[in-house]
Amino acid sequence: MTEQPPVNVSKTAIKPAQATDIPSLERLLSSAPGQVLAGAVGRSRLAATLRQLLDEARAQAVAGTLPAAALEHDALLSRAQSQLDAQDQPRLRAVYNLTGTVLHTNLGRALLPEAAIQAVVQALSSPANLEFDLNTGRRGDRDDLIEELLCELTGAEAATVVNNNAAAVLLMLNALANRREVVVSRGELVEIGGAFRIPDIMQRAGARLAEIGTTNRTHPADYENAVGPRTAMLMKVHCSNYAVTGFTRNVSVAQVANIAHSHGLPAAVDLGSGTLVDLTLWGLPREVTVRETIEAGADIVTFSGDKLLGGPQAGLIVGRADLIRKIKKNPLKRALRVGKLTLAALEPVLALYRAPELLADRLTTLRLLARPAAHMRQQARRLQQVLQQAVGKDYEVQASPMFSQIGSGALPVDQLPSHGLIVRHIGTGGSGRALQKLESNLRQLPRPIIGRIAQDALWLDLRCLEESDEPAFTQQLQEYVA
Ligand SMILES: *Cc1c(COP(=O)(O)O)cnc(C)c1O
Repeated sequence: MTEQPPVNVSKTAIKPAQATDIPSLERLLSSAPGQVLAGAVGRSRLAATLRQLLDEARAQAVAGTLPAAALEHDALLSRAQSQLDAQDQPRLRAVYNLTGTVLHTNLGRALLPEAAIQAVVQALSSPANLEFDLNTGRRGDRDDLIEELLCELTGAEAATVVNNNAAAVLLMLNALANRREVVVSRGELVEIGGAFRIPDIMQRAGARLAEIGTTNRTHPADYENAVGPRTAMLMKVHCSNYAVTGFTRNVSVAQVANIAHSHGLPAAVDLGSGTLVDLTLWGLPREVTVRETIEAGADIVTFSGDKLLGGPQAGLIVGRADLIRKIKKNPLKRALRVGKLTLAALEPVLALYRAPELLADRLTTLRLLARPAAHMRQQARRLQQVLQQAVGKDYEVQASPMFSQIGSGALPVDQLPSHGLIVRHIGTGGSGRALQKLESNLRQLPRPIIGRIAQDALWLDLRCLEESDEPAFTQQLQEYVA
């Protein structure tokens, strides 16, 4: 191939390339920069990308639309590199959650505390006694790693853990109520986001649902009257993501457990979020704890690991030893079991609950939920100018009070006072489209910023932007041009 002179690719003087000018793949790969790039990305992968680029170049050259400069080695290799870089961008990326929903299911729910992160890294990189009893040198049970801690924190006799709370409910029902009836109040036949519906899970578990009461009112007598020879258990489900208010009546766990026990049956409670501490200690809305539920007489309680508990995705099942034993013997337990990363993360998270005074400092989820609005207010003042600069004069950025939510179905009607930035369109043209454009631009950033559009404005709640995140957040905005 002849050496190409440097080309000035201005509109007036484009020198078109000929198909015969196309360099050979071998020459590109064996050039000095080609060898460097092959060393970084792998020779066969680079060859495949270059082959495709050369094919495209050939077609363009034949059509007479290829500038000669595009055939320079450096130009071709740098195009190959940017294609490969784009391919290598991870699909799962860190984002800024400024939605105002702390436990956002679509954004991965709870963030793990530092101790859990360290434990996961350790479990990833070294062998561990996952199912190996270090005292006897024999095979162990992976549940043993966290069972004692869970019992200590909940007052339960025994515990086990599976992939998530949906799995916990499925397994519990299949193990304890297969081909028998489970009595549930109509007001508690909930659908949780992501196609988890109590009646469907019940069916898949092989249990028959015996619905009682009405949507708004269920009485103790409804439970009494539903018990028959085929009844396996009475079950209560936490109304995670909605509230029934007005003319309502709901039977307490203690009452349901009493009725169940008087017939020799167990009472199960799907608590959903399931917290281990009294959240009012941090000024948060009240949520019944797992311990209180056990003390009220529940024989089995299921709850999530990555909602209010603040740990990894998991489904925790605690309760009576004989029932837990049955659950652990069920073949589904093996199919739904957790991996070592989950257990590695779960143990230090649970251990934090031994020192409640330190919890709001160390447990990331609680720290975010308990953040005083004054912190977010100061932050909003600091960031208002930065964001205003970034979005330009067609938008107006204001610091403003707003409300965050806990999320993931926890306490759906309670709202946490927060502060953040509200962006309104003030330029000409449709404000709806301009806002969507802005929202989309923020989503396309290297670390996407996720807010929410409401009332003709983009809302960015700062609760989940901790002060340690602020420098990187600011820097990204300063590099960003609307
Ligand atoms: C969230 C929730 C579930 C599902 O829990 P996952 O951990 O998401 O599987 C089940 N039941 C209730 C009441 C819930 O709130």
